[in-house]
Amino acid sequence: MEVNFNGNKKTLYQSVLADEFPDEMGRFGPFGGRYIPETLVPAFTALEAGVKQYLNDPKFIQEWQGELNNWVGRPTALTFAPRLSASWGAEVWLKREDLAHTGAHKINNAIGQALLAKKLGAKQVIAETGAGQHGVASAAACARVGLPCRVFMGAVDIQRQAPNVDRMRQLGAEVCAVESGDKTLRAAIDEAMRDWVSDPGDIYYIIGSAVGPHPYPYLVREFQSVIGREARKQMLEQANDLPDAVFACVGGGSNAIGLFYPLVNDEGIKLIGVEAGGQGSGLGKNAATLATGVPGVLQGAYTMVLQDSDGQVQETQSVSAGLDYSGVGPEHALLQYIGRVRYESATDEEALEALSELCMTEGILTALETAHAFAAAKKWALKHPGKRILIGNSGRGDKDMATLSKHIRGL
Ligand SMILES: *Cc1c(COP(=O)(O)O)cnc(C)c1O
Repeated sequence: MEVNFNGNKKTLYQSVLADEFPDEMGRFGPFGGRYIPETLVPAFTALEAGVKQYLNDPKFIQEWQGELNNWVGRPTALTFAPRLSASWGAEVWLKREDLAHTGAHKINNAIGQALLAKKLGAKQVIAETGAGQHGVASAAACARVGLPCRVFMGAVDIQRQAPNVDRMRQLGAEVCAVESGDKTLRAAIDEAMRDWVSDPGDIYYIIGSAVGPHPYPYLVREFQSVIGREARKQMLEQANDLPDAVFACVGGGSNAIGLFYPLVNDEGIKLIGVEAGGQGSGLGKNAATLATGVPGVLQGAYTMVLQDSDGQVQETQSVSAGLDYSGVGPEHALLQYIGRVRYESATDEEALEALSELCMTEGILTALETAHAFAAAKKWALKHPGKRILIGNSGRGDKDMATLSKHIRGL
């Protein structure tokens, strides 16, 4: 578990540009790796072999790309935001993952992993979900490939994201309420891992973010990078140039790594990840893992973690269920460590305000998670007039109406 932090940052930076991570050990520099119970070792060995085989198989990639084009609705639009641009004094572009099937970027990964599960001969798929978007995407993807799907969801999240629970059931998935731990995303991941141990041979676990033990952070990054590849090409075609700064919200970090990864080597582009600042600073009041966490092992990977001085993992707080997580993907920990990506946070209040502004100026009801990226982008735009900004619009806000209605009514 010892990790060498004395590694030269410059060398790590060069290795990132040379696309050397994850390495053979599944590490992103000092971060990542695989910390799992003995009972899951054969399952992870099989998964890693399957990932190596199929992600390098042009036929498999073609099949996945076909589903993205014909079923998910890709490429998603790149939308210029004229009224927001005028208001911020910037040139604002939005990468519209809200337009993808089931309403968020989650489907890019879910359909990729569902196809992989089928190839690997799985009989049962399991998934965890926070806001419910990954649960819905997994339920839909499993229906599409013809595999049964069981989704673990924290009891707190079941309460605040009720419409997504019904969507999952309508799509044929079994939804299991998780009453243990923090009753949100972290507990749901723990429960999915526990369930997996019960039948590692027949179960395939579709993880929903770029987190967990190797090879998941890599696998999810590969499936989500379609966002950044499309956005880069669309910026060059529609804006005739690359952006000066790119913003994405960060929960576990899958939409952000998907947008950032294909842009990492464009060193002139500022990359900014935005975490949930919740109710403000102080342990337990937010989910700003990279901004305020410390290195540790969480859910099978060495990464940044919100924990107290005794190593107890902290419960988190955020108005958005999808960002309410005390860990973060290990690749983000590395990108922060070497200084290639900057991580900021936006509070609940700032996110709600940004969400309203986007609704009023552009007619787009974005997800509460996504609104955090808008809040940070606005602050940056006001400080740096006239810049070209790209924002990852990770999902739509229909699922958040219960929360939004409370705020609209001033409750
Ligand atoms: C799940 C979700 C997120 C957070 O997850 P990441 O893995 O950090 O992308 C952000 N936005 C939306 C719309 C989501 O559904």
